[in-house]
This record gives sequence, C-alpha cells and structure tokens, in this order.
Amino acid sequence: MKKQFAVIGLGRFGGSICQSLVKQGMEVLAIDISEDKINKYANIATHAVIADSTDEDTLKSLGIRNFDHVIVAIGDNIQSSILTTLMLVEQGVRHITVKAQNDYHEKVLNKIGAHKVVHPERDMGVRIAHNIVSKNVLDYLELSDEYSIVELMAGETVNGKSLIDLNIRAKFGCNIMAIKRKEEINVSPTADELIIQGDILIVIGADNDLNRLEQDLF
Ligand code: ATP
Ligand code: ATP
Ligand code: CA
Repeated sequence: MKKQFAVIGLGRFGGSICQSLVKQGMEVLAIDISEDKINKYANIATHAVIADSTDEDTLKSLGIRNFDHVIVAIGDNIQSSILTTLMLVEQGVRHITVKAQNDYHEKVLNKIGAHKVVHPERDMGVRIAHNIVSKNVLDYLELSDEYSIVELMAGETVNGKSLIDLNIRAKFGCNIMAIKRKEEINVSPTADELIIQGDILIVIGADNDLNRLEQDLF
C-alpha cells in the first residue's frame, strides 16, 4: 500500500513538500486554514481540506492518526504549530516532522515529542554561506553540532593526486566517502584512487577538520 502523508500548512515550505511528495508518487492530504491555499493545492494534492489543525475534533475527524507521516509546516504562528504538534503526538501519529521558526521553537517541539524538527531557513543559510566563502564547497549537510558532510569540487591543487598522496584521513581526520565523476559515483574509493580536477568529493568529518581541509586543499 502507498504511504499516506499529511501536510499541514501550505506556505512556500509546506507547499513545496506537498508537491515533491506527489511527484514521488505518494498520497498526500493537504490541510490549511486558508481557502485560497486549499484552492491552489486542490489539483496538486491527493486530497485538500480547509481545516484548523489546532482543533482537536477536526484532526480526529480527518483520521490523522492513520497517516504514516504528518508534516507540520505552520511557520509564523508558533503557538498553532506547537499546539498542532502536541495533538499529533497525543493521537499517536507515527512520524511527525515539524518546521521550526527559531531555536526556542525547536526546543519546545523536541520536548513535546516531535520526531524530527527541521529548520530550513537556518540550514540553507549555513549551506549558502559555506558556498559563498569557498566556491569549491558545493553543499553542506550538518550531522550534529560538530560533524558534517561536505561536497567539495576538486581543483588544481589536488588534480592527479591519490588519496595516499594527499593523506587526507591521517592529516585532516576526514574520510572521503565517495567520488563523483560526471554521472558515475565511486562509493568506496581505494587509497590509490586518483582525483581529477572537476571531481566532486563527498567528505565526512568534524567541522574544524573539514574547515582545515577546505582551506588547505580546496
Ligand atoms: P513559508 O514556508 O512560505 O516561509 P511560513 O511557514 O512562514 O511560509 P506561514 O504563512 O506562517 O508560512 O504558514 C504556513 C501556512 O500555514 C499558511 O498557509 C497558513 O494558512 C497555514 N496555517 C496557519 N495556521 C494554521 C492552522 N491553525 N491550521 C491549518 N493551517 C494553518
Ligand atoms: P589508516 O591507518 O590511516 O586508516 P590505512 O591503513 O587504511 O590508513 P590506506 O587505506 O592504504 O591505509 O590509506 C593510506 C592513507 O590514504 C590513509 O592514511 C589516508 O590518509 C588516505 N586515505 C585512504 N583512503 C581514504 C579515504 N577514503 N578518505 C580519506 N583518506 C583516505
Ligand atoms: Ca516564512
């Protein structure tokens, strides 16, 4: 059976999640308090309903606890976001992902039992900042406060060198998980693998080690 998703709040973020889930062939119930938003998504989502998600009876009548995954994407109204999340937790929804507006909001959401809290504006800011500082940092994924995965574009400095030549693990404490060359991805590069300018290296490590690596070699 197809996985059933519900997206509450159809701002730019929730709307984009909704569209992307539908594109991936998922069944999506779109919920918003605004009639305009529901009209806009009526032809995109599998079902679209005008509803106030802070109303417990409404959530129950939608059978929200039967959905595999509910995404709360109410942005500015933090109170509604928290109340909605709390009721989803109380009703036993299996997977609840919530968009946080700020760090305090995030803290509360974690405390009341949201399974995953996302912070797209902040995360995107971090990624773009890394890319602005070094144009060879293509992407950046924070794993925790201290560890990340980065995508680095190989430049002239590393062209024609092997992982042994560069001695990356020993020198920087980072691991190259994969090397992308055009359409091909080598997911377990051996130590004698030669890097060619234009390759994209996917590297995992502590933030300070990754920073040293970026500065010395990229
Ligand atoms: P963006 O992703 O565009 O930055 P946002 O997350 O800042 O948007 P908001 O406008 O704060 O967006 O809220 C997203 C949506 O949530 C809006 O379409 C709004 O109508 C809807 N919304 C707000 N409160 C409720 C509620 N109680 N029940 C259902 N939907 C709600
Ligand atoms: P180590 O004792 O450092 O783990 P090793 O015994 O695994 O090294 P090799 O696999 O031959 O030795 O690699 C030699 C060196 O090449 C490593 O010490 C490391 O610096 C570098 N290296 C090899 N593979 C990688 C990788 N995937 N990412 C980063 N560095 C690597
Ligand atoms: Ca917003």
